[in-house]
Amino acid sequence: MRAAVLNALHEPLTIETIDTPDALQANEVRVATAAVGICHSDLHVIDGRVARPLPVVLGHEASGVVSEVGSSVKDVAVGDHVVACFVVFCGRCRMCRSGRPAMCQDRQATMRGAGEEPRLSRAGSEVHQWTNIAGFAEEMVLHRNAVTVIDERMPLDLAAMLGCAVATGVGSARKVAGVGPGDHVVVIGAGGVGLNVCQGAAAAGAATVIALDRSPERLALASERFGATHVVDTGLVADPAALVRDLTDGGADHSFEAVGAPALIGLALDATARGGSVWAVGVFGDGATIPLPADHLHSGKGVHGVRAGSLEPQRDLPALVADHLAGRLELEALAGRRIALDEINDGIADLVAGVGARTLVVF
Ligand SMILES: [Zn+2]
Ligand SMILES: [Zn+2]
Repeated sequence: MRAAVLNALHEPLTIETIDTPDALQANEVRVATAAVGICHSDLHVIDGRVARPLPVVLGHEASGVVSEVGSSVKDVAVGDHVVACFVVFCGRCRMCRSGRPAMCQDRQATMRGAGEEPRLSRAGSEVHQWTNIAGFAEEMVLHRNAVTVIDERMPLDLAAMLGCAVATGVGSARKVAGVGPGDHVVVIGAGGVGLNVCQGAAAAGAATVIALDRSPERLALASERFGATHVVDTGLVADPAALVRDLTDGGADHSFEAVGAPALIGLALDATARGGSVWAVGVFGDGATIPLPADHLHSGKGVHGVRAGSLEPQRDLPALVADHLAGRLELEALAGRRIALDEINDGIADLVAGVGARTLVVF
Protein backbone atom coordinates (compact mmCIF):
# COMPACT_ATOMS: atom_id res chain seq x y z
CA MET A 1 0.00 0.00 0.00
CA ARG A 2 1.08 3.60 -0.52
CA ALA A 3 2.19 5.77 2.35
CA ALA A 4 3.97 9.08 2.94
CA VAL A 5 7.26 8.25 4.69
CA LEU A 6 9.54 10.57 6.64
CA ASN A 7 13.07 9.27 5.96
CA ALA A 8 15.11 12.24 7.22
CA LEU A 9 14.42 15.32 9.37
CA HIS A 10 13.55 18.55 7.55
CA GLU A 11 13.01 16.62 4.30
CA PRO A 12 9.76 16.32 2.34
CA LEU A 13 7.77 13.13 2.89
CA THR A 14 8.17 10.59 0.09
CA ILE A 15 5.29 8.58 -1.31
CA GLU A 16 6.35 4.95 -1.25
CA THR A 17 4.86 1.49 -1.45
CA ILE A 18 5.29 -0.22 1.92
CA ASP A 19 4.01 -3.45 3.41
CA THR A 20 1.46 -4.35 6.06
CA PRO A 21 1.23 -7.90 7.47
CA ASP A 22 -0.90 -10.45 5.64
CA ALA A 23 -2.17 -11.81 8.95
CA LEU A 24 -3.63 -9.68 11.74
CA GLN A 25 -2.95 -10.45 15.38
CA ALA A 26 -5.97 -11.36 17.50
CA ASN A 27 -6.48 -7.84 18.90
CA GLU A 28 -5.95 -5.90 15.67
CA VAL A 29 -8.11 -4.33 12.99
CA ARG A 30 -7.29 -3.36 9.42
CA VAL A 31 -8.74 -0.07 8.21
CA ALA A 32 -8.95 1.43 4.72
CA THR A 33 -8.08 5.05 5.40
CA ALA A 34 -10.73 7.55 4.28
CA ALA A 35 -9.17 10.82 5.45
CA VAL A 36 -6.42 12.12 7.71
CA GLY A 37 -5.73 15.60 9.03
CA ILE A 38 -2.32 17.26 8.99
CA CYS A 39 -1.51 18.57 12.47
CA HIS A 40 1.24 20.69 14.01
CA SER A 41 2.36 17.66 15.99
CA ASP A 42 3.27 15.97 12.70
CA LEU A 43 5.34 19.03 11.86
CA HIS A 44 7.15 18.79 15.20
CA VAL A 45 8.47 15.36 14.20
CA ILE A 46 9.51 16.54 10.72
CA ASP A 47 11.46 19.48 12.14
CA GLY A 48 12.99 17.44 14.99
CA ARG A 49 11.39 19.34 17.89
CA VAL A 50 9.94 16.01 18.96
CA ALA A 51 12.48 13.24 18.36
CA ARG A 52 11.16 9.92 17.04
CA PRO A 53 12.87 6.98 15.32
CA LEU A 54 12.98 7.06 11.52
CA PRO A 55 11.78 6.08 9.01
CA VAL A 56 8.27 6.80 10.21
CA VAL A 57 4.77 7.24 8.84
CA LEU A 58 3.11 10.22 10.55
CA GLY A 59 -0.57 11.13 10.75
CA HIS A 60 -2.56 10.73 13.96
CA GLU A 61 -6.13 11.91 13.29
CA ALA A 62 -7.72 9.63 10.74
CA SER A 63 -10.96 8.00 9.73
CA GLY A 64 -11.73 4.96 7.65
CA VAL A 65 -13.69 1.80 7.03
CA VAL A 66 -12.79 -1.49 8.69
CA SER A 67 -11.75 -4.15 6.16
CA GLU A 68 -10.68 -6.99 8.50
CA VAL A 69 -10.72 -7.78 12.23
CA GLY A 70 -8.55 -10.05 14.36
CA SER A 71 -9.92 -13.25 15.90
CA SER A 72 -10.61 -11.80 19.36
CA VAL A 73 -12.20 -8.54 18.18
CA LYS A 74 -15.93 -8.92 18.75
CA ASP A 75 -17.15 -5.31 18.97
CA VAL A 76 -15.80 -3.99 15.66
CA ALA A 77 -16.97 -5.48 12.36
CA VAL A 78 -15.94 -5.33 8.71
CA GLY A 79 -17.62 -2.31 7.14
CA ASP A 80 -17.78 -0.28 10.33
CA HIS A 81 -16.87 3.38 10.03
CA VAL A 82 -14.22 4.35 12.56
CA VAL A 83 -12.19 7.23 13.90
CA ALA A 84 -8.56 6.28 14.55
CA CYS A 85 -7.25 8.35 17.40
CA PHE A 86 -3.82 8.68 19.02
CA VAL A 87 -5.37 8.06 22.44
CA VAL A 88 -4.63 4.34 22.13
CA PHE A 89 -5.06 2.74 25.52
CA CYS A 90 -4.21 -0.61 27.06
CA GLY A 91 -7.46 -0.86 29.06
CA ARG A 92 -5.75 -2.56 32.01
CA CYS A 93 -3.40 -0.09 33.74
CA ARG A 94 -4.26 2.07 36.74
CA MET A 95 -5.17 5.07 34.55
CA CYS A 96 -7.33 3.06 32.17
CA ARG A 97 -9.11 1.33 35.07
CA SER A 98 -9.96 4.72 36.59
CA GLY A 99 -11.51 6.03 33.38
CA ARG A 100 -8.52 8.04 32.17
CA PRO A 101 -7.38 6.31 28.96
CA ALA A 102 -5.64 9.49 27.73
CA MET A 103 -3.16 8.97 30.58
CA CYS A 104 -2.59 5.27 29.80
CA GLN A 105 0.69 4.10 31.32
CA ASP A 106 1.20 1.12 29.04
CA ARG A 107 0.65 2.17 25.43
CA GLN A 108 3.40 -0.29 24.53
CA ALA A 109 0.88 -3.04 25.24
CA THR A 110 -1.05 -1.86 22.16
CA MET A 111 1.97 -2.30 19.87
CA ARG A 112 3.42 -5.46 18.43
CA GLY A 113 6.32 -7.06 20.32
CA ALA A 114 9.98 -6.50 19.43
CA GLY A 115 10.47 -9.91 17.79
CA GLU A 116 7.25 -9.85 15.79
CA GLU A 117 6.62 -8.79 12.21
CA PRO A 118 6.18 -4.99 12.31
CA ARG A 119 2.85 -3.46 11.32
CA LEU A 120 4.66 -1.40 8.68
CA SER A 121 7.78 -2.47 6.80
CA ARG A 122 9.82 -1.79 3.68
CA ALA A 123 11.96 -4.51 2.14
CA GLY A 124 11.63 -6.45 5.39
CA SER A 125 12.78 -3.70 7.77
CA GLU A 126 10.52 -1.74 10.10
CA VAL A 127 8.90 1.56 9.23
CA HIS A 128 7.69 3.13 12.48
CA GLN A 129 4.02 3.75 13.15
CA TRP A 130 3.77 7.15 14.80
CA THR A 131 1.37 7.38 17.79
CA ASN A 132 0.36 3.78 17.03
CA ILE A 133 -1.70 5.16 14.09
CA ALA A 134 0.34 6.20 10.98
CA GLY A 135 -2.58 7.70 9.10
CA PHE A 136 -0.61 9.12 6.15
CA ALA A 137 -1.21 5.81 4.40
CA GLU A 138 -3.88 4.03 2.38
CA GLU A 139 -4.27 1.35 5.04
CA MET A 140 -3.83 1.23 8.81
CA VAL A 141 -3.20 -1.88 10.93
CA LEU A 142 -4.18 -0.89 14.44
CA HIS A 143 -4.82 -2.20 17.93
CA ARG A 144 -8.55 -2.51 18.50
CA ASN A 145 -8.36 0.25 21.14
CA ALA A 146 -7.05 2.71 18.52
CA VAL A 147 -10.44 2.85 16.81
CA THR A 148 -13.91 4.00 17.78
CA VAL A 149 -16.94 2.97 15.75
CA ILE A 150 -19.07 5.95 14.70
CA ASP A 151 -22.49 6.61 13.18
CA GLU A 152 -22.33 5.97 9.42
CA ARG A 153 -24.24 9.18 8.71
CA MET A 154 -21.13 11.11 9.76
CA PRO A 155 -19.07 12.33 6.75
CA LEU A 156 -15.75 10.48 6.99
CA ASP A 157 -13.59 13.44 5.94
CA LEU A 158 -14.94 15.58 8.78
CA ALA A 159 -14.77 12.62 11.17
CA ALA A 160 -10.97 12.46 10.80
CA MET A 161 -10.58 15.76 12.64
CA LEU A 162 -12.42 14.48 15.69
CA GLY A 163 -9.44 12.36 16.72
CA CYS A 164 -7.03 15.19 17.51
CA ALA A 165 -8.05 18.80 16.82
CA VAL A 166 -11.66 18.55 17.98
CA ALA A 167 -11.14 16.10 20.84
CA THR A 168 -8.24 18.11 22.21
CA GLY A 169 -9.82 21.52 21.77
CA VAL A 170 -13.38 20.84 22.89
CA GLY A 171 -12.19 18.46 25.61
CA SER A 172 -9.73 21.01 27.00
CA ALA A 173 -12.48 23.59 27.42
CA ARG A 174 -15.30 21.38 28.62
CA LYS A 175 -13.77 18.36 30.33
CA VAL A 176 -10.38 19.51 31.56
CA ALA A 177 -10.90 23.17 32.42
CA GLY A 178 -14.62 22.84 33.09
CA VAL A 179 -15.45 26.22 31.55
CA GLY A 180 -18.83 27.31 32.86
CA PRO A 181 -21.56 29.87 32.19
CA GLY A 182 -20.34 33.46 32.52
CA ASP A 183 -16.62 32.62 32.44
CA HIS A 184 -14.09 34.79 30.65
CA VAL A 185 -11.88 32.71 28.34
CA VAL A 186 -8.76 33.49 26.32
CA VAL A 187 -7.50 31.21 23.57
CA ILE A 188 -3.98 31.82 22.29
CA GLY A 189 -3.64 30.31 18.82
CA ALA A 190 -6.65 29.91 16.50
CA GLY A 191 -5.50 26.84 14.57
CA GLY A 192 -7.27 23.50 14.50
CA VAL A 193 -7.05 23.00 18.27
CA GLY A 194 -7.58 26.63 19.30
CA LEU A 195 -10.73 27.06 17.22
CA ASN A 196 -12.15 24.02 18.96
CA VAL A 197 -11.27 25.42 22.38
CA CYS A 198 -13.28 28.48 21.28
CA GLN A 199 -16.33 26.47 20.27
CA GLY A 200 -16.11 24.25 23.35
CA ALA A 201 -15.97 27.29 25.63
CA ALA A 202 -18.79 29.03 23.78
CA ALA A 203 -20.97 25.91 23.99
CA ALA A 204 -20.28 25.74 27.73
CA GLY A 205 -21.74 29.22 28.13
CA ALA A 206 -18.62 31.37 28.47
CA ALA A 207 -19.50 35.07 28.55
CA THR A 208 -16.33 36.11 26.76
CA VAL A 209 -14.19 34.08 24.36
CA ILE A 210 -11.18 36.04 23.14
CA ALA A 211 -9.10 34.47 20.35
CA LEU A 212 -5.51 35.62 19.84
CA ASP A 213 -3.57 34.86 16.65
CA ARG A 214 -1.43 36.50 14.00
CA SER A 215 -3.55 35.26 11.09
CA PRO A 216 -6.49 37.51 10.11
CA GLU A 217 -7.99 34.53 8.25
CA ARG A 218 -8.03 32.38 11.37
CA LEU A 219 -9.31 35.20 13.55
CA ALA A 220 -12.20 35.73 11.13
CA LEU A 221 -13.03 32.02 11.39
CA ALA A 222 -12.90 32.23 15.18
CA SER A 223 -15.45 35.02 15.38
CA GLU A 224 -17.71 34.01 12.48
CA ARG A 225 -17.93 30.25 13.00
CA PHE A 226 -16.41 29.18 16.32
CA GLY A 227 -18.02 31.40 18.93
CA ALA A 228 -15.24 33.90 19.71
CA THR A 229 -16.76 37.11 21.06
CA HIS A 230 -13.55 39.10 20.48
CA VAL A 231 -10.40 38.60 18.41
CA VAL A 232 -6.98 40.13 18.93
CA ASP A 233 -4.37 40.22 16.16
CA THR A 234 -1.16 39.84 18.15
CA GLY A 235 0.81 41.12 15.17
CA LEU A 236 -0.95 44.48 15.47
CA VAL A 237 -1.60 44.95 19.20
CA ALA A 238 1.38 46.05 21.32
CA ASP A 239 0.18 44.59 24.65
CA PRO A 240 -2.40 41.84 24.04
CA ALA A 241 -2.53 40.86 27.73
CA ALA A 242 -3.47 44.39 28.77
CA LEU A 243 -6.21 44.43 26.14
CA VAL A 244 -7.55 41.12 27.46
CA ARG A 245 -7.57 42.42 31.04
CA ASP A 246 -9.54 45.47 29.84
CA LEU A 247 -12.07 43.32 28.01
CA THR A 248 -12.58 40.97 30.97
CA ASP A 249 -12.62 43.20 34.06
CA GLY A 250 -9.19 42.09 35.20
CA GLY A 251 -8.31 38.99 33.23
CA ALA A 252 -9.57 35.63 32.05
CA ASP A 253 -10.78 32.84 34.30
CA HIS A 254 -9.27 30.35 31.86
CA SER A 255 -6.43 31.02 29.41
CA PHE A 256 -5.55 28.32 26.90
CA GLU A 257 -2.18 28.13 25.18
CA ALA A 258 -2.92 26.23 21.95
CA VAL A 259 0.29 26.88 20.02
CA GLY A 260 3.08 25.09 21.87
CA ALA A 261 5.39 28.11 22.26
CA PRO A 262 6.85 28.40 25.78
CA ALA A 263 6.87 32.23 25.77
CA LEU A 264 3.11 32.25 25.21
CA ILE A 265 2.60 30.71 28.66
CA GLY A 266 3.93 34.04 29.97
CA LEU A 267 1.37 35.90 27.85
CA ALA A 268 -1.36 33.57 29.09
CA LEU A 269 -0.40 34.21 32.73
CA ASP A 270 -0.44 37.99 32.14
CA ALA A 271 -3.90 37.71 30.57
CA THR A 272 -5.31 35.62 33.46
CA ALA A 273 -7.23 37.03 36.42
CA ARG A 274 -6.23 36.43 40.02
CA GLY A 275 -7.16 32.89 40.93
CA GLY A 276 -7.49 31.90 37.28
CA SER A 277 -5.96 29.02 35.37
CA VAL A 278 -3.62 28.66 32.43
CA TRP A 279 -4.09 25.47 30.44
CA ALA A 280 -1.10 24.31 28.40
CA VAL A 281 -2.75 22.57 25.45
CA GLY A 282 -0.09 23.04 22.76
CA VAL A 283 2.67 20.48 22.31
CA PHE A 284 6.05 21.87 23.35
CA GLY A 285 9.28 20.48 21.95
CA ASP A 286 11.42 17.93 23.78
CA GLY A 287 13.12 19.50 26.82
CA ALA A 288 11.23 22.80 26.57
CA THR A 289 10.80 24.85 29.75
CA ILE A 290 8.20 27.53 30.41
CA PRO A 291 8.59 30.91 32.13
CA LEU A 292 6.77 31.04 35.46
CA PRO A 293 7.25 34.30 37.40
CA ALA A 294 6.41 33.41 41.00
CA ASP A 295 4.26 36.53 41.45
CA HIS A 296 1.57 34.76 39.46
CA LEU A 297 1.50 31.95 42.03
CA HIS A 298 0.98 34.45 44.83
CA SER A 299 -1.96 35.76 42.79
CA GLY A 300 -3.49 32.32 43.02
CA LYS A 301 -2.96 31.40 39.39
CA GLY A 302 -2.05 27.92 38.25
CA VAL A 303 -0.52 26.43 35.12
CA HIS A 304 -1.88 23.02 34.21
CA GLY A 305 -0.83 20.49 31.62
CA VAL A 306 -3.43 19.05 29.29
CA ARG A 307 -3.16 15.73 27.52
CA ALA A 308 -5.45 15.10 24.54
CA GLY A 309 -8.29 16.96 26.23
CA SER A 310 -8.54 13.98 28.63
CA LEU A 311 -10.31 12.19 25.80
CA GLU A 312 -12.17 8.96 26.52
CA PRO A 313 -12.45 7.83 22.89
CA GLN A 314 -15.21 5.24 23.20
CA ARG A 315 -17.46 7.62 25.09
CA ASP A 316 -16.52 11.07 23.78
CA LEU A 317 -16.06 10.50 20.03
CA PRO A 318 -19.60 9.17 19.43
CA ALA A 319 -20.90 12.11 21.48
CA LEU A 320 -18.99 14.55 19.27
CA VAL A 321 -20.44 12.85 16.19
CA ALA A 322 -23.93 13.24 17.65
CA ASP A 323 -23.22 16.91 18.37
CA HIS A 324 -22.19 17.48 14.77
CA LEU A 325 -25.17 15.61 13.31
CA ALA A 326 -27.46 17.70 15.53
CA GLY A 327 -25.87 20.94 14.33
CA ARG A 328 -24.13 21.73 17.61
CA LEU A 329 -20.52 21.21 16.52
CA GLU A 330 -18.89 23.16 13.68
CA LEU A 331 -16.62 20.99 11.55
CA GLU A 332 -17.10 22.11 7.96
CA ALA A 333 -15.42 25.48 8.56
CA LEU A 334 -12.54 23.69 10.26
CA ALA A 335 -11.63 21.79 7.12
CA GLY A 336 -9.39 23.65 4.72
CA ARG A 337 -8.23 22.14 1.48
CA ARG A 338 -8.84 18.48 0.67
CA ILE A 339 -5.79 17.07 -1.08
CA ALA A 340 -4.54 13.72 -2.38
CA LEU A 341 -1.75 11.76 -0.69
CA ASP A 342 0.63 12.77 -3.51
CA GLU A 343 0.09 16.43 -2.56
CA ILE A 344 0.83 15.94 1.14
CA ASN A 345 3.94 18.12 1.13
CA ASP A 346 1.80 21.02 -0.16
CA GLY A 347 -0.50 20.43 2.80
CA ILE A 348 2.46 20.56 5.18
CA ALA A 349 3.56 23.81 3.54
CA ASP A 350 0.04 25.20 4.17
CA LEU A 351 0.42 24.35 7.83
CA VAL A 352 3.79 26.08 8.07
CA ALA A 353 2.30 29.13 6.34
CA GLY A 354 -0.82 29.16 8.54
CA VAL A 355 -3.20 28.80 5.57
CA GLY A 356 -6.68 27.48 6.41
CA ALA A 357 -7.53 25.68 9.60
CA ARG A 358 -6.99 22.02 8.81
CA THR A 359 -5.79 20.49 5.55
CA LEU A 360 -7.20 17.01 4.98
CA VAL A 361 -5.67 14.25 2.90
CA VAL A 362 -8.56 12.27 1.42
CA PHE A 363 -8.28 8.82 -0.12
ZN1 LIG B 1 -2.64 16.51 16.41
ZN1 LIG C 1 -3.66 1.82 30.13
